[in-house]
Amino acid sequence: MAQIRIENVRKDFGAFTAVQSSSFTIEDGEFFMLLGPSGCGKTTTLRMMAGLELPTSGRIFIDGEEVGQKPASQRDIAFVFQMFALYPHMNVRGNISYPLKSQGMPSAQRKAKVHEVAEILGITDILDRPVGGLSGGDRQRVALGRAIVRDPKAFFMDEPLGALDAEFREHMAEELRALHDRMAATTVYVTHDQLEAMQMGDKIVVMNHGVVEQFGVPQDIYDWPATKFVAQFIGSPPMNFLDFDGKIEAGQDEVRLNDIAIRVPQSVDGAQGRLTLGVRPEHVKLDDAAPYRGRIMATEYLGTTQIVTLDTANGQIKARIASSDKIAVGQSAGLSFDARTITLFENAQGQALRSRANEGVLIHG
Ligand code: ATP
Repeated sequence: MAQIRIENVRKDFGAFTAVQSSSFTIEDGEFFMLLGPSGCGKTTTLRMMAGLELPTSGRIFIDGEEVGQKPASQRDIAFVFQMFALYPHMNVRGNISYPLKSQGMPSAQRKAKVHEVAEILGITDILDRPVGGLSGGDRQRVALGRAIVRDPKAFFMDEPLGALDAEFREHMAEELRALHDRMAATTVYVTHDQLEAMQMGDKIVVMNHGVVEQFGVPQDIYDWPATKFVAQFIGSPPMNFLDFDGKIEAGQDEVRLNDIAIRVPQSVDGAQGRLTLGVRPEHVKLDDAAPYRGRIMATEYLGTTQIVTLDTANGQIKARIASSDKIAVGQSAGLSFDARTITLFENAQGQALRSRANEGVLIHG
């Protein structure tokens, strides 16, 4: 299996830069997510790692060997596409064994290998069935079988579950993750779905407009967003932003929102001008004694919790509270925030003023 490293990789299509200089490392055996909105450059990044697209500049390494200029066929990786094309005139066994046949593997060995893979995927009972009549899930399993059977160094998947309906998608996501845990093969997975990335990934790269915004484990990305883009892209509802004019000395532990002091983490770098206080809905408490006020505009019932929308002098904010809490739309409410959960951003670039890097843990790629 493989470690994959990209160093300052960039891709231009004519005058358009699809991927700006990007660097990160995918460790051996990781389930690694490339996450971002449509057009952010995740597929192009994956295709460069796979050898289907040549980088304009930068270097790509698989297990320490530079492969940037090598074609896909020499990188020993397997691709699983969204529209998994199977050979319709072959049965399941024929489809799975095809890559081995192309390699010239003797028939007895091929048979044993196909059986082994079918066991892993739980499809031994359909090996002799034509692929035409198979369910979506079984087709996906056959496509995976065809990828696994070669024992490649790494699996590359581009929105493999994108075409499936929500319920089935969740089931296949669990199955894929379980398969990965059994095989411990390095897997690089492209998705625009933040929930899928959080649920399945060991690590996530978040991209926007061809730029790597953040790189880290899911919880760090959720708790310690490096930019406003990440804070909004991850989480549902996304992180709240309250804009204010302020000045923060390095290490200062409070900011003033309309003359009301709000405690913030001490590890803030100094900043001044237009700033943003970011807080996730579950870290906003409705607290009658709190001096910072908002007016309750709406509430949305979600079973165990409800999402309350409030207007404040610094913009709209959402709080996730217990659905058993009684809320009166139109009333004023006090708002308090747990200082440990606040992220402050400067507004010009949208960069977080504190990051886990300040506390000795690296989150930037
Ligand atoms: P999606 O999920 O929509 O595919 P993505 O994040 O995977 O989005 P890419 O497919 O990597 O995005 O595309 C990034 C940008 O590069 C897009 O603006 C796309 O139009 C452009 N692009 C991709 N391939 C080419 C190409 N061969 N020629 C010109 N532009 C391209």
